[in-house]
Amino acid sequence: MATIFEKIINREIPAEIIYEDEVCISIKDIQAQAPFHALIIPKKLISRIAEAKDTDSQILGHLLLIAKKIAIEKNLDEGFRIVINNGPNGGESVPHLHLHLLGGRKLTWPPG
Ligand code: AMP
Repeated sequence: MATIFEKIINREIPAEIIYEDEVCISIKDIQAQAPFHALIIPKKLISRIAEAKDTDSQILGHLLLIAKKIAIEKNLDEGFRIVINNGPNGGESVPHLHLHLLGGRKLTWPPG
């Protein structure tokens, strides 16, 4: 069964798209946890970072560089955070790898 992110990639359900290329799509998170909260999602279905293969290294690097590019474009000059939740204890709710890009406020540490 397709994940919600595959449905967004395939335009079966709407999303606020921030960026897209042949490797990934970036959308606004529907439940923003910060003034700016985007997701960067590979088009290839990798369920979670724990399932990534050595051959995915180019995709994984690309996701980070796109996250950085979006952070700069969105003027997150004061700082930002990139997060990957993995598995039930990691807070993963959608089994399709995605980076969270959060910014626009002072983020606390450690996370909950
Ligand atoms: P995670 O809990 O790390 O798996 O993150 C999943 C994220 O996807 C959550 O922050 C949700 O708010 C977000 N999300 C779920 N459905 C949608 C959607 N249709 N459009 C945008 N973001 C979504």
